[in-house]
Amino acid sequence: MLATKNYRFWFCTGSQDLYGDECLAHVAEHAKIIVGKLNESGLLPYEVVWKPTLITNELIRKTFNEANVDEECAGVIVWCHTFSPAKSWILGLKELRKPLLHFHTQFNEEIPYDTIDMDFMNENQAAHGDREWGHIVTRMGMERKIVVGHWSDANVQSRIASWMRTAVGVIESSRIRVMRVADNMRNVAVTEGDKVEAQLKFGWEVDTYPVNEIAEAVAAVSWSDTNALVDEYYQKYDILLEGRDPEEFKRHVAVQAQIEIGFERFLKEKNYHAIVTHFGDLGALKQLPGLAIQRLEEKGYGFGAEGDWKVAAMVRLMKIMTAGVKDAKGTSMLEDYTYNLVKGKEGILQAHMLEVCPSIADGPISIKCQPLSMGDREDPARLVFTSKEGKGIAVSLIDLGNRFRLIINDVDCKKVEKPMPKLPVATNFWTPQPDLYTGAEAWILAGGAHHTAFTYDLVAEQMGDWANAMGIEAVYIDKDTNIRDFKKDLMLGNLFYR
Ligand code: MN
Repeated sequence: MLATKNYRFWFCTGSQDLYGDECLAHVAEHAKIIVGKLNESGLLPYEVVWKPTLITNELIRKTFNEANVDEECAGVIVWCHTFSPAKSWILGLKELRKPLLHFHTQFNEEIPYDTIDMDFMNENQAAHGDREWGHIVTRMGMERKIVVGHWSDANVQSRIASWMRTAVGVIESSRIRVMRVADNMRNVAVTEGDKVEAQLKFGWEVDTYPVNEIAEAVAAVSWSDTNALVDEYYQKYDILLEGRDPEEFKRHVAVQAQIEIGFERFLKEKNYHAIVTHFGDLGALKQLPGLAIQRLEEKGYGFGAEGDWKVAAMVRLMKIMTAGVKDAKGTSMLEDYTYNLVKGKEGILQAHMLEVCPSIADGPISIKCQPLSMGDREDPARLVFTSKEGKGIAVSLIDLGNRFRLIINDVDCKKVEKPMPKLPVATNFWTPQPDLYTGAEAWILAGGAHHTAFTYDLVAEQMGDWANAMGIEAVYIDKDTNIRDFKKDLMLGNLFYR
């Protein structure tokens, strides 16, 4: 479900024909070595591909247009080994539609003190060639990432790796299709938004289907398929009957198994990657999809509750951006629910009615069957667990009426002090940075929602760069946030992005 294209990144070295063939041969040889070592580092999630040195207007334009139409090219990395007059890049850059990284590096790490002469200086002048190149990109107002440092440095390689995930997010955003089987919850503001503008900005297609169409797909799932999946659940998860009759419990679980299979078939058939539901609009479904949605999220589908298509698309996007992360800790929709305001132990208990993704779980996962406090259906079966400790980010995409804003909060996930045996939902617990008081104040000032897309496996910079590539404002709430400066950030954003 998370399989994307076999993405590659093109490595384009800038130079010119002023230096003679021998120098150009060195430029190409050095670039090939750098590309080889980047690929051997084991740090990059996608392959880098060497491209012939760009020395003329025509070649630059041709290469960038080839990058545009190559479906496997997720971005272009440019480095000027020598001086490459930047006017020769203007037409190519004007036409480039792929994410752009300026890799400001140099082949040699150290100045060769004993042997350095002017030939060496002319051949190794990224320090000035890259400034010429950077100037024109800035003058053209183009979005790009700049990574500075020696190509053999693991930190530098990691920064390239991090940007690659952003670039894939930029490319893949326009493939996201969200299925709504319910409208927004009545009277709720923050889950609303302009779907046409979202398609213009992010490329998202957000479509509605009558809930009973998907309910028919669920009803069409055979008992043998359903029972096979129930068996899988019973092997994989702990069963917490809590006094319920085992057969009755199993029948409730089977309803979710049938929903999981039916929903997945329906989504696959119609090529959607994210879904929204609403507890108040279930048509012929017997239960609010709980366990079923949790499993689909784990497989890579985006999800938003109460019609929240923005969160559904963001969860899907972040699952794509984190695909293949080594030792990934998970990505889920969450909701700010309840505070702990005890001094020194402040934090927010994160949960939802049911639909938290088990990819963020720590320890055993159990199935429980409990009444919902809202809605009018059978007691839904759901997966219950607590979540991993560690750093993560919570993001909220909001529609301000005339534009979108992405709010990104660094959070520290922790264990709660005691078990919560009566709480029948999966939870996470975090303290927002810089602290609960400032973090929550800033979040509310920025207009952040109660639903978030959360992940342990991306950092704020990646999501902020994605937002900027989409042409929208990103605001950061992190260790450096103070309210006075944060208000100025919001004021600047209001001026710049209107
Ligand atoms: Mn909710």
